[in-house]
Formats: sequence, C-alpha cells, structure tokens
Amino acid sequence: MTPVSNDHELRVSKIRHGTVIDHVRAGQALNVLAILGIDGGDGEEVSVGINVPSDRLARKDIVKVEDRELSQDEVDVLSLIAPDASINIVREYEVVEKHRVERPDAVEGVLSCPNPGCITTGGEPVTSQFEVLEDGVRCAYCGTITREEIASLIDT
Ligand SMILES: [Zn+2]
Repeated sequence: MTPVSNDHELRVSKIRHGTVIDHVRAGQALNVLAILGIDGGDGEEVSVGINVPSDRLARKDIVKVEDRELSQDEVDVLSLIAPDASINIVREYEVVEKHRVERPDAVEGVLSCPNPGCITTGGEPVTSQFEVLEDGVRCAYCGTITREEIASLIDT
C-alpha cells in the first residue's frame, strides 16, 4: 500500500514547474484566473480545484498554473480576494518556495474605481490608486469604498 499521509503535498506538487495557489476562499478561483489574466486563449496550462476539502478552511479552491511564477503585483491583488491563500512555487515537481500572501497597504494601477465621476475613470492619464482597508479598498482620489465585489474592479 502506498502511504497516503502526504496526500496534500502530492496534490500541490503535481505540476512540474509553476505556481500553485492554495487555500483560496471557496468560490474565488475564477476571480484568481481573472487577476492572472488567464482566459484559456493563450495556451497556458491551468488546473482549478473548486470546493476541495481543506483542513484549514472548510472548503477551498486551488489554482495551479504551469510554467509561470507570479509577480509581486499579481500576488498583491490576489491577497485582496484570497487573504488566506498560500503561494507555492514548484520546480521539477518540488515545492521550492511557499509563502502566505500579505495584504499590501495600497495597490496601484490594478483596480478601476467604480465611481464614474472619479478622475481616474474620466479618460485622464491618472493611474488608479487604492488604499487597502481591513475589509475592502478605498479609492485614493475620490474616497469610494468597495467591500464586496473587489474582483469586479480588477482592470483586465
Ligand atoms: Zn475613485
């Protein structure tokens, strides 16, 4: 019999090279793909697990992206919708790096303000800037706060 104790590591490290984003809040996997700009059209190999049983969360999503390591910007935005996520960098089937995401104090240029009257949405060459709050984000220009649906602000 094969020991099953290391089932978790196995599941995470099944890809050869790339990134495994683990402990994503259940239901957020598709938003993670949106953040990474993955729409299936550019030949990237991606596996998504939705509602996988987890010891840390009741249910979780998991996203594995082959041949890609995430940039800090991508991880920052990811942390907004998946604050419990862990990022596993895999090389030759081994997890060589594993870290929890950290919420940044601010994000720049990655979200669009939902306020149509905001200077950042009016066609001016102004880079969007959001302050990251405990439970949402606040536009640095007009002060609009978004708590739910942060994923819908992602500028793709
Ligand atoms: Zn704004």
